[in-house]
Amino acid sequence: MTDCIFCRIGSHDIPSTVAYEDDKIIAFHDLEPQAPVHVLVIPKKHIESLDDVTEEDQELLGHIMFKIHEIAADLGLANGYRVVSNNGEDAFQTVKHLHFHILGKRKMTWPPG
Ligand code: 5GP
Ligand code: ZN
Repeated sequence: MTDCIFCRIGSHDIPSTVAYEDDKIIAFHDLEPQAPVHVLVIPKKHIESLDDVTEEDQELLGHIMFKIHEIAADLGLANGYRVVSNNGEDAFQTVKHLHFHILGKRKMTWPPG
C-alpha cells in the first residue's frame, strides 16, 4: 500500500469531503482551510510535482485546469477565487503529490508572502 496521503484520498482509503470526482481527478476540502472555501484538486495518478510531469500527462493537466472552473462554480465562487500550486522546497510544498489549491470567499492579498 502507498504511504502517499493524497493517493490514499484518491482511492478512498482515507476519507475526505469530496467536492468533485471522476476517473482521473478528485477535489476535496482541505483539512486546515486557509479561506472559507479551500479545496484541493489532484490527479489520481501519483505525480510528485509539476517538475515531474511528462509528455503523457498533458491531457491530464488540461483536464484538471478545465475542471477547476466548474468546481469553483459549484462551490459558489462567482466572485472570484485563487488557484495555487506549491512546488518544491522554496514554495513549501508539504504533500509530495501534485495538487492545486482553490481558495475563495475572502479577499486575497497580492503579492503572496
Ligand atoms: P501544500 O502545503 O503541500 O501546498 O498543501 C498541502 C495541503 O494539504 C495543506 O493545505 C494541508 O492542510 C492539506 N492536507 C494535508 N493532509 C491532508 C489530509 O489528510 N486531508 C485533507 N483533506 N487535507 C490535507
Ligand atoms: Zn500520491
